Amino acid sequence: MRRATVIGAGVGGLTAAVALWQRGWAVTVFERAASLEPVGSGLAVAVNALKALDVIGVGDGIRKLSAVQGEGGVRSAKGRWLMKTAVREISDKHGDSVVLVRRADLVDALAAQLPPGVVRLNTAVAEAEPASGRVRLVGDPDPIEADLVVAADGIRSAVRSALFPDHPEPSYAGVTSWRMLIPGGHVPGQTFETWGAGRVFGVMPLIGGAAYCYATDTVPAGGGDGDQRALLRRLFRGWHSPIPELLDAVSPEAILRNDVYHLATPLPAMHRGKIALLGDAAHAMTPNLGQGACQAIEDAVTLAHVAGGDLAGYTAARLKRTSAIVARSAVGCRITQVRNPLLVRLRDEGMALAWRLGRRRMAAAMDDIFGWNPPDYTHT
Ligand SMILES: Cc1cc2nc3c(=O)[nH]c(=O)nc-3n(C[C@H](O)[C@H](O)[C@H](O)COP(=O)(O)OP(=O)(O)OC[C@H]3O[C@@H](n4cnc5c(N)ncnc54)[C@H](O)[C@@H]3O)c2cc1C
Repeated sequence: MRRATVIGAGVGGLTAAVALWQRGWAVTVFERAASLEPVGSGLAVAVNALKALDVIGVGDGIRKLSAVQGEGGVRSAKGRWLMKTAVREISDKHGDSVVLVRRADLVDALAAQLPPGVVRLNTAVAEAEPASGRVRLVGDPDPIEADLVVAADGIRSAVRSALFPDHPEPSYAGVTSWRMLIPGGHVPGQTFETWGAGRVFGVMPLIGGAAYCYATDTVPAGGGDGDQRALLRRLFRGWHSPIPELLDAVSPEAILRNDVYHLATPLPAMHRGKIALLGDAAHAMTPNLGQGACQAIEDAVTLAHVAGGDLAGYTAARLKRTSAIVARSAVGCRITQVRNPLLVRLRDEGMALAWRLGRRRMAAAMDDIFGWNPPDYTHT
């Protein structure tokens, strides 16, 4: 039986483990954390990733656990709609649009596909050798051999740094982010992202009446001390309803803050020898397109399809696509960082005008991302 070692039990690593397991691989997943998905927040899962989840039989379960993204769009800080999301056009064209799910629900649904004992928590990998496929665990001198090593160890991937030591490390994208789950009762049915001067606030309804909200602000990296709810209330004071009300409803301990980094320079390859890099380890991107986890899911089912053969096929299938999405996401991030009031006004008016004049063209802007199909996609 072919053996695969997966490093990291995030969305990417777990999807890879499930996809490989279903194709007859003996899989072990090593996760250094004590529990799966300690980060409590939500996730937009777009149609491209849903198609990949269909391949491993998890798509419909996730659809049931998710709210479908309703009519929504981008608003100004005063609440004016600058553009609307063309949800119906996207569904008509691609079969689904975007669903909104709790991260923990996605992770649990993936882990539930694996037999007990496959995921080993509290187990950090110290090093991995590309030529032999040998992995050494922290505190264990005996190496573990495998035919394939999947490095899904996230944006700070130690495996990536070891495989490509001269490659630039992820760079700060210019914004810090907050994520929070808000209990039911305070939440409008609409999905929207509101853009102000250098700041963004987004709202995504979840099933059961709760919401996942996120925010970004253009500040130097490295902040994060103090009462984050008080800070958010100050930053978004005077923004349109229900943003201040949502910030009144969130409990301070439910707020996660992370500086946003991305791998601005694409890697030369997504593999070396028997090691495949996957997800944020391979192509960390800013969150503006909502595609980081979606691309990790795409990577995983593609890798399982080609694994067993030359991993150059994996790089060929994934590097160009993911590099383009990283770059496009970074452009989106830069647009939200505009702070000069005149430029903010120009940006907002430009977006509103482009939407009025070219609704169909703007609706098609995500076609190349949403229109992706897994290698052996058969779901109807
Ligand atoms: C504010 C924000 C909003 C976002 N929203 C969306 C969205 O709506 N949709 C979307 O698709 N994406 C979104 N993303 C991106 C998404 O969160 C990431 O792209 C995704 O989680 C990456 O998954 P991963 O499995 O590659 O890495 P991770 O989730 O980072 O998992 C890596 C795992 O590896 C483990 N690990 C690391 N080193 C070792 C080691 N040596 N040994 C063992 N284990 C190790 C870590 O503990 C971790 O569990 C967002 C990101 C941010 C910051």
